[in-house]
Amino acid sequence: MSIPWLNPLHNTLSQAFSQGKLHHAILLCGKRGVGKAVLAHNIVNALLCEAPNGLYACQRCKACLLQNAGNHPDRMLLSSENGIGVDEVREIGDFVVHSAQQGGRKAVIVEDAQQLTVSAANALLKTLEEPTKNRYLLLTCTDVSLLPATISSRCFKVNVDVTREQGETWLQENVRKYCSDSWHHLFASQPLLVSTWLEEGIDPDVKSLYDWAFGNVSTWPLAEMQRMLSKKADLKDAFCLFLLHRIKRQVEKSFDFSTSSEQTYEMSRFAEKLKTISGTNLALSLSLLQNVFNKPLN
Ligand SMILES: [Zn+2]
Repeated sequence: MSIPWLNPLHNTLSQAFSQGKLHHAILLCGKRGVGKAVLAHNIVNALLCEAPNGLYACQRCKACLLQNAGNHPDRMLLSSENGIGVDEVREIGDFVVHSAQQGGRKAVIVEDAQQLTVSAANALLKTLEEPTKNRYLLLTCTDVSLLPATISSRCFKVNVDVTREQGETWLQENVRKYCSDSWHHLFASQPLLVSTWLEEGIDPDVKSLYDWAFGNVSTWPLAEMQRMLSKKADLKDAFCLFLLHRIKRQVEKSFDFSTSSEQTYEMSRFAEKLKTISGTNLALSLSLLQNVFNKPLN
C-alpha cells in the first residue's frame, strides 16, 4: 500500500542513515491514522534487512522474509494491544544488551508511547540514556505533550502529517473506489483509520455511530451504543468527531446557534467523561447527550 506523504520523511531518514547519522531513538508524532506505525515498521524492516538501499528494505533477503512472517529475532514490538507496561519496557533493556542473532542490528518499536505509565517511561529512559551501537528505538505517539520531556528530549522527533487533499486522494484510490460510505470523507486527515476499520470489520459500528450522531434514528439504542463505545478508544473518538460535524452542519444549515451551543456544551462534557468513565455511567452520559442530539437536522 503506497502512502505518498510518508515518502519525504522516509527519504530524509534514509539519507541520514546512509551518512551514518541516523539517531538511535526516533519519535514519530502525529494523529491516529496518518501512517506513523507504517513508517516505523518500514524503517525497522530496512534496519534489519541484509541488503538495504539506504533505509529501504530489499524485501527478498532472509531477514526480510523473517520480518514479513512476523518472527525476526532481532525485532521487538510493544503496542497497547500486547502491553506497554513497566514489565514489557524492562524487557527492552534486556533485548538491546544481548547480541543480535542475524545481521548485527536490533530494533524495537513502541507504539502509542503516550500511553506509557510513569514507571514504564522511567524504565525506558535508561535505554534511551545509554545508547548502544546498532540498537534502534522507534516510538510513535499521538500527542508529544503527553510524553515526559525526559523521553521526548532524548529522541529525534519527526512529525507525520497528511494534508486534506492527500488524505482525500488516498481514500478515493484505496477505499472509496471499492466501497463508499457517507462517513469516509470525514477522515481525510486520518485516512488510514478508515482502511484499518474496514480490515478489522468494525466499519458497520462506525456507520451506526455516524447515524446516531446525525439523528438518523428515532431513539438511541443506549445499551448497544454503550457496548460499542466501550469496545475501542478509536470508536469513542469517531463518535465525538461525528457529533462535532453534526453541530457544524446544524449551524451551516439553519444558523441555529442556541441548539448548537447547547450541543457543543453537552458534547464537551461527554468527551471529557469518556476519558475516565465506563460501564453504567456511560449509559447515563449517553442519555443526557441524547436529549440534545437525537433529533433530525433542522
Ligand atoms: Zn532484505
